[in-house]
Amino acid sequence: MSNKLIDGKAIAAAIKKEIAKEVAALIDADKKAPHLAAVLVGNDPASETYVASKERACKEVGITSTTYRLAEKTSEKELVEIIEFLNNDPDVDGFIVQLPLPSHLNSDKILEHIHPSKDVDGFHPLNIGRMQLGLPCYLPATPYGVVELLKRSKVDIDGKHCVVLGRSNIVGTPLSILLSRKSNYGNATVTLCHSRTRDLNAIIQQADILIAAIGQPEFVKGDMLKKDVVVVDVGIHRIPDASNEKGYRLTGDVDFDSVREVVSKITPVPGGVGPMTIVSLLQNALSASQKKIY
Ligand code: NDP
Repeated sequence: MSNKLIDGKAIAAAIKKEIAKEVAALIDADKKAPHLAAVLVGNDPASETYVASKERACKEVGITSTTYRLAEKTSEKELVEIIEFLNNDPDVDGFIVQLPLPSHLNSDKILEHIHPSKDVDGFHPLNIGRMQLGLPCYLPATPYGVVELLKRSKVDIDGKHCVVLGRSNIVGTPLSILLSRKSNYGNATVTLCHSRTRDLNAIIQQADILIAAIGQPEFVKGDMLKKDVVVVDVGIHRIPDASNEKGYRLTGDVDFDSVREVVSKITPVPGGVGPMTIVSLLQNALSASQKKIY
């Protein structure tokens, strides 16, 4: 089994070393360390955990990180003022506004206030448009991480049928664009599926590469798949489990146990896509400080 596993943790660790080396080179050249800021509104526990992991990861590679913690009741005007402040702070190379935002704030409207040159989450319409056109841009972290995982695991996607389950703006849709782009790691034939897709099982059965990002625990079963398919599991869920000392276990959108025998390669949960997401954000922060894109 072990040679089938795409080890996201190990690949992310290797990329972190590359980033740390580049950060050290900046400092040796008397330049400042990259500075990544995060704005966290409210007390969503998953967001707290994610921001804490980002802070840890920044520290590991020598990137300066600052987190702005704002109260749940923060108004749109107050949040936009912080965004404008960060847009204009020459010390901050890039920043993110952690999603989801409390329900009284419209995230699409808020994200448009981030200056595209500092939008290291790649969610601003300008960065999304540039991605679509194949122009230099910040790529959204999870899709960027998935592409990097496949590339570094030497999965050939050229001309292959890649089925993406889920069309969210942060995962499925950008992935479908990246994998089908006319570029040196692209050229896949992509089918993007969602909750209205008819005959989903017949489409899944045709996949050479299957990417599951639908937010449904263990949805993909082994008997749905073609032999030797490559499976990337983006999903992450906590399932209550009394036999586990933590009281829960982590699982993905793929039923790992039934799928493992059928696949040629698979990402585990945890330790697959998750670690790559944070590392991709670090890569964007480094690019921002090196002015590689804007
Ligand atoms: P969303 O809930 O935003 O989107 C889910 C998508 O899946 C939608 O397009 C929806 O269709 C589709 N869908 C839902 N149920 C079905 C179904 N039964 N059949 C076909 N399509 C379906 O999810 P995200 O993209 O934000 O996240 C997906 C998963 O990835 C989640 O488990 C999330 O926790 C995880 N995740 C993991 C990350 C990581 O770093 N590892 C980062 C981001 C997300 P429709 O559009 O029609 O509603």
